[in-house]
Amino acid sequence: QERWSLAGATALVTGGSKGIGHAIVEELASLGARVHTCSRNAAELEACRRRWAETGLQVTVSVCDVSSRAQRENLMATVDQTFEGKLDILVNNAGQCVMNAAAGYTGEEYAKVMGTNLESSFHLAQLAHPLLLLGGGITRAVVNISSIAGQVGLPSLAVYSMTKGAMNQMTRSLAVEWAGDRVRVNCVAPGGINTDISRDVEMVMDPEVVERMAARVPMRRMGETEEVASVVAFLCMPAASYITGQVICVDGGHTIG
Ligand code: NDP
Repeated sequence: QERWSLAGATALVTGGSKGIGHAIVEELASLGARVHTCSRNAAELEACRRRWAETGLQVTVSVCDVSSRAQRENLMATVDQTFEGKLDILVNNAGQCVMNAAAGYTGEEYAKVMGTNLESSFHLAQLAHPLLLLGGGITRAVVNISSIAGQVGLPSLAVYSMTKGAMNQMTRSLAVEWAGDRVRVNCVAPGGINTDISRDVEMVMDPEVVERMAARVPMRRMGETEEVASVVAFLCMPAASYITGQVICVDGGHTIG
């Protein structure tokens, strides 16, 4: 068995058309996995699929808004068909950030962020569980993408941070429940990574707050998407076979600075 490979494994990565998810798809596929990914934008997904096919990566795509229960069920049915009933890896990456002061946060905003980030991750893990049990190939792994916002207090990000803190806890709870099934459940918590989300967040934040946050990063820079993807890939590999229930920050030292 190859400990540092994902050859022959099958993986579902949500939100793979852009940003961190896009880098995770490429990392897992480069290591030999067959990957299925989704987003809400059919044209963007198709453009990605074409580029991946050209470079020899085995990636299939389908449209899914992960905040919809029915669409999540459809997605897992597609994955079931694509991989003939066997799934080795689930990466819950798709997520959204609606910034607003807590006092004025609307019910619609709350429901959208909770549904997209938290409920989707829990439900997709539930839906994936029987497929993971049938997989049983070189690895059985769930990786959740939370955020350092789930363990520190950041202004205007209360609900987003609540979803990420809950994803950290979900990781520990499922890890314990599924250890007997040999399904490892881990979490990667990125700090500021160069993507659309971080650019949007910086645009609406007080520049002074942005500067203060940047100054807190010991490595004095933002992270790149590949720097998150490599950790996700490691957690999926047989090489990580004794790691479960962990939240690993990829943040240039932000949370210990
Ligand atoms: P991007 O906005 O760059 O990419 C998000 C991806 O998810 C896109 O492919 C997007 O496609 C898809 N997506 C968004 N909403 C949905 C939905 N409802 N259903 C299906 N797909 C969806 O974000 P990032 O790469 O920055 O973020 C990825 C994850 O990393 C998120 O969970 C985020 O919270 C987390 N994170 C990011 C940090 C950062 O600094 N960038 C820091 C910490 C955590 P589309 O919009 O077309 O559906």
